[in-house]
Amino acid sequence: MEKSLKEKINEMKDWLVQIRRTIHMHPELGFEEVETSKLVSEWLEKFGLEVKRGMAKTGVVGLLKGKKPGQTVAIRADMDALPMDEARSVPYASQIKGRMHACGHDAHVTILLGVAKFFSSIPDQVKGNIKWIFQPAEEGGGGGRIMVEEGVLENPKVDAVFGAHVFPFLSVGKVGIYEREGLAAADRFTIKIIGKGGHAASPHVSKDPILAAGHLITQIHSIVSRNVNPLESGVITIGKVSGGTASNIIPDEVELIGTVRSLNPQVREELKSRIEQVTQGVARSFSMDYRFDFEYGYPVLINNSEMSKLVAAACAKGIGKECVEVVKPSMGGEDFAYYLEKVPGSFFRLGCRNEEKGIIHPYHSSLFDIDEDVLPFGVEMFVRVIDQYLGLEIT
Ligand SMILES: [Zn+2]
Ligand SMILES: [Zn+2]
Repeated sequence: MEKSLKEKINEMKDWLVQIRRTIHMHPELGFEEVETSKLVSEWLEKFGLEVKRGMAKTGVVGLLKGKKPGQTVAIRADMDALPMDEARSVPYASQIKGRMHACGHDAHVTILLGVAKFFSSIPDQVKGNIKWIFQPAEEGGGGGRIMVEEGVLENPKVDAVFGAHVFPFLSVGKVGIYEREGLAAADRFTIKIIGKGGHAASPHVSKDPILAAGHLITQIHSIVSRNVNPLESGVITIGKVSGGTASNIIPDEVELIGTVRSLNPQVREELKSRIEQVTQGVARSFSMDYRFDFEYGYPVLINNSEMSKLVAAACAKGIGKECVEVVKPSMGGEDFAYYLEKVPGSFFRLGCRNEEKGIIHPYHSSLFDIDEDVLPFGVEMFVRVIDQYLGLEIT
């Protein structure tokens, strides 16, 4: 008797775990994913897919052309790790000092390879095309934007795109769906307050930028509470303040660096212009100069609600409605937003938490880990999403 989809995927578990651990032990930073991308392309070639290497430096794209015509669906994984040490002493811990897969991108790569293994075993049942996108540098490098600019959504033209992130706030076996907004726009600002340095005992002949910075910090924190509609979301955090060298010196300038998060383009622009206005006002009130730089980061990640419904329905087929939850947007950023700016799609969450096994730590923690059951689980969810989108009716 023909094996079921679930059985076929569960049989892959040891293979999936082995791949995930290999990647986990050899983490590479954004745009340096040389070994990871080699591992990925070798497997894709083994599965008989068309493989394109070297997009956005280390990105890899795989393509499976179905026997019958249909839509083209793409799925995406990010490959980069983080510049930090792993604190867990597990046999598969990072072997590279100062590098760790603390965001689960090792799992994302593994899951997509599992999906490739699955569909390459049933090429006759595929109609349309399936494209696998393995991108570099999600953690700040914007690898996704470069992949899009280099044409990853063309030839064949992608009709829908799906991505997932492991999620330590949901138990393994559960899926989280965003109805529309998933993650925030994440921008950065740098402010310099330029005063006039001098002796600390003669403030009247200097212009003290530290006092002005104090006022500015409290003023900036009034923006979200007083200028943003309470039903919208925004965050401004000043993460770094630097200025001054000694107790008896008034410095020439103080620098503030911060991040701004928002879930819609109007709020994004409002926050930007208010921060600058407030800076100008405070600087003027102390008769000082200022410099204001604003750097746009990843845009808001906006899901297509129809595609999110499709993901919810497809996943529910495998795990039941009760295991599919609608989750609130996060004020973190995610460069999958660039794909969703171009084609409809959805970004969803794969629970990877397991309290009994002590797998409870958040992303980017030196103790972060996943319950490896999420690997076959993630494969199954992607297979079901693709099945539903392409109308394959795999059982
Ligand atoms: Zn991350
Ligand atoms: Zn991540």
